[in-house]
Amino acid sequence: MMYRSLIRTSTRQLASAARPGTVRSYASTASQPFDWEDPLGSHNLFTEEEIAIRDTAEAYCQERMLPRVLQAYRDEYYDKKILEEMGELGLLGATIKGYGCAGVSNVASGLITKAVERVDSGYRSGMSVQSSLAMGGIEEFGTQELKDRLLPEMAKGKLLGAFGLTEPNHGSDPGSMETTAKPHPTKKGYLSISGSKTWITNSPIADVLLVWAKYSETGKIRGFVIERKDCPPGTLETPAIKNKTGLRASLTGMIHLDACPVPEANMFPDVEGLRGPFACLNSARYGIAWGVMGALEDCITRTRAYALERKQFKGNPLAKYQLVQKKLADAATDAAFGTLAAIQVGRLKDDGKTAPEMISMIKRQNCDKALSNARVLQEVFGGNAVSDEYSIGRHVANLFVTQTYEGQSDIHSLILGRAITGIQAFV
Ligand SMILES: Cc1cc2nc3c(=O)[nH]c(=O)nc-3n(C[C@H](O)[C@H](O)[C@H](O)COP(=O)(O)OP(=O)(O)OC[C@H]3O[C@@H](n4cnc5c(N)ncnc54)[C@H](O)[C@@H]3O)c2cc1C
Repeated sequence: MMYRSLIRTSTRQLASAARPGTVRSYASTASQPFDWEDPLGSHNLFTEEEIAIRDTAEAYCQERMLPRVLQAYRDEYYDKKILEEMGELGLLGATIKGYGCAGVSNVASGLITKAVERVDSGYRSGMSVQSSLAMGGIEEFGTQELKDRLLPEMAKGKLLGAFGLTEPNHGSDPGSMETTAKPHPTKKGYLSISGSKTWITNSPIADVLLVWAKYSETGKIRGFVIERKDCPPGTLETPAIKNKTGLRASLTGMIHLDACPVPEANMFPDVEGLRGPFACLNSARYGIAWGVMGALEDCITRTRAYALERKQFKGNPLAKYQLVQKKLADAATDAAFGTLAAIQVGRLKDDGKTAPEMISMIKRQNCDKALSNARVLQEVFGGNAVSDEYSIGRHVANLFVTQTYEGQSDIHSLILGRAITGIQAFV
């Protein structure tokens, strides 16, 4: 099938959807049949354009990505052509305006994310890092020269990005990072960056690495765009981390920098401290809150189909048993609530009315609920849950990672607890 590119359609779409509320149409409240796939009718909250974008993304993901994921997960293989295909459809950096990006609403971008993660959280991670963390960071904080030069190629998926914040000794506490940038001792106009980052999505194949390091002149954290092609041999290594137990269809690696020369012009000029990385993470965490609802919905669809098919005791399908029905009811409720919360935050984000804590709340809640429900639904498959052919085990393993990265859930509890009490408990 031919897929419609968002780039060709979205400028027109967005002009009419600039204030989504003005084009949204609310369905009548007359009695409607219950739709177990959209229990609270969230589709009524989408504009026509958002529905068209969702359908384009879902069709691509189901027809082109899904057939590849099982083998990719077995082989721990990430096909980087996927990012090019997404680029052709306008799915990368989709909320960015200009630079060849589609410029869609935050809800539309959430729907794209959900479609991708319905297939696999690893594929969504590859996309999120490219779109929200690397492109989003450059767009928000980079110089005009960096934006003009890098964003159009990144939007096409021709240049791949990575985001290096986590270090071997500093994960939840990135403020203690050890990576440093200091004036280069011999190259004028250059900085010298040294240190190690770990658990970095896309790092083994990334062309553009957005790395956060402490700047020796001020002791403050700054963002640096490192372009692999310009790094002399031995100054940048990005080994893959193999034998993962989750997110196996995504590439993860380290970043080792040994006096790597980086032009001063590649340092983000106006952002200091953790505000920079946290601003990028906010957008990515918002996407995760949407994405995991896609993975949970896929678990529900697969569990329902299995429970209707599989018969135990007097030829009854598993779906006839109350305990099984409760598992499905709990999961469908959490998926519907989580989706509505993500839509609400997306609308506020479009209007510039989000507090970071709102994003902590939906990231934490949706990841926790997706993981706990997926683990319970897995039980319905009995022994077959152990076979990767049923996909449920893959989602469960992936969802553990989504609950852990970009702020482990307990860390988001502390962020929320600080906002509620005024007392910070990170110690
Ligand atoms: C597959 C994968 C991909 C990733 N991709 C990226 C990427 O692209 N870029 C990037 O920068 N990072 C990435 N990460 C790293 C990820 O963000 C970190 O793993 C995460 O921030 C947690 O850090 P940590 O693993 O060091 O855990 P730790 O910080 O050691 O935490 C371990 C546990 O202790 C808890 N804990 C820590 N401090 C406290 C406290 N004060 N109070 C209570 N509990 C606490 C945590 O909640 C957690 O449960 C990725 C990780 C994985 C697994």
